[in-house]
Amino acid sequence: MPTSQFQHLKMTDSEIFEAILKEEKRQSDELELIASENYVSPAVLEAMGTILTNKYSEGYPGKRYYAGQENIDTVENIAIDRVKKLFNCEHANIQALSGSPANAAVYMAFLKPGDRVLGLSLDHGGHLSHGHPVNFSGMLYQFVRYGVEANGYIDMDKVREIAIKERPKMIVAGFSAYSRNMDWKRFKEIADEIGAFTFADIAHIAGLIAGGQLDSPVPFFDVISTTTHKTLRGPRGAIIMCKNKYAKNIDKAIFPGMQGGPHDHINAAKAVAFKEALQPEFKTYAAQIIKNAKILASELINFGFKIVSDGTDNHLMLVDMSSKGRSGKEAEIALEKAGISCNKNMVPFDTRSPMDPSGIRLGTPAVTTRGMKETEIKLIAGWIRDAVEHADDLSKLQSIKNEVKTLCVSFPIPGL
Ligand SMILES: *Cc1c(COP(=O)(O)O)cnc(C)c1O
Repeated sequence: MPTSQFQHLKMTDSEIFEAILKEEKRQSDELELIASENYVSPAVLEAMGTILTNKYSEGYPGKRYYAGQENIDTVENIAIDRVKKLFNCEHANIQALSGSPANAAVYMAFLKPGDRVLGLSLDHGGHLSHGHPVNFSGMLYQFVRYGVEANGYIDMDKVREIAIKERPKMIVAGFSAYSRNMDWKRFKEIADEIGAFTFADIAHIAGLIAGGQLDSPVPFFDVISTTTHKTLRGPRGAIIMCKNKYAKNIDKAIFPGMQGGPHDHINAAKAVAFKEALQPEFKTYAAQIIKNAKILASELINFGFKIVSDGTDNHLMLVDMSSKGRSGKEAEIALEKAGISCNKNMVPFDTRSPMDPSGIRLGTPAVTTRGMKETEIKLIAGWIRDAVEHADDLSKLQSIKNEVKTLCVSFPIPGL
């Protein structure tokens, strides 16, 4: 429902109402190229805003600590069944509150503090929760790392060498900023050689896997986590999938290990999103995300931008702004002034700092949800070039912003 129709909030809390209204306008009028963002359907939004938020339901269906759970159990069981269908996994826990807590639960289920874990370097595309020193994961566990090669690809022979040398108890495969296919089977073979657990964090690409466009780690890996709000296009949250033999450990790690009561209104919205992802249209959506990303990458390459690994297999790409004599931060700021959101990002082997890195990360899930295709992506690529090349020309940036808004009006956000 459009925010303008919120009668109660408008009356009781005009400050928050106004801020939400303005954010709705910002989202409507601007292009979202942040690779981790998306727009949920009106049905997902409706489920999130329900009285299910009033309920406490610590435990799992049929085994709760408080009374009055018949409807909550229905919701959670449906959500679990849909995850199993969507990803073809043996066991699913849908209670994780978000990606990072889901990963905390995975580590808790499989490791003891101090155990060694092998994960992708953060400055080569890994996630904070894969062992960054400022994150719980880096504080509690001893992370060792693999990275990408100069060509931007992970070399699986190198991963094997490091695994054999370091003997981690777990290998983490997953990323926030890597644009190439993952060789899940090879990761599993390497882990088996050293007796390590396999953990895939598919937070970014879950929707592309569910939509049948990318290979799935589920047949091979012991445990898989994903957020539900990125390409999967559900509410903010996460799920964990695993082989049956680890089901008890995972469930215990989520509750009572990591979390208290589940967020039942969010879990209902997850179920709604999983149903949407099971429809044939979602396959078309996932395929279009990748098509759009490939077009965006090739257009930018034609305009003289350097793309890490020279292209993409998924929904995202890293653009090295040094190819245009700009920093990532300068590019991010110029694009924001032009009505295009993205995030500055380290590129592999970056010589600059994390707060002022060389690159930006771009992704197509959100613009694809708005229905944009090749024609619009080519327009967007042109605006990116113009904004970066004229980053100091405020009137140029403003005129791009006006064109962006005109395009956005023709491709409204779902439900608005
Ligand atoms: C986004 C992301 C997460 C964290 O998800 P939050 O919901 O922000 O906590 C974890 N792992 C990867 C790979 C991600 O991309």
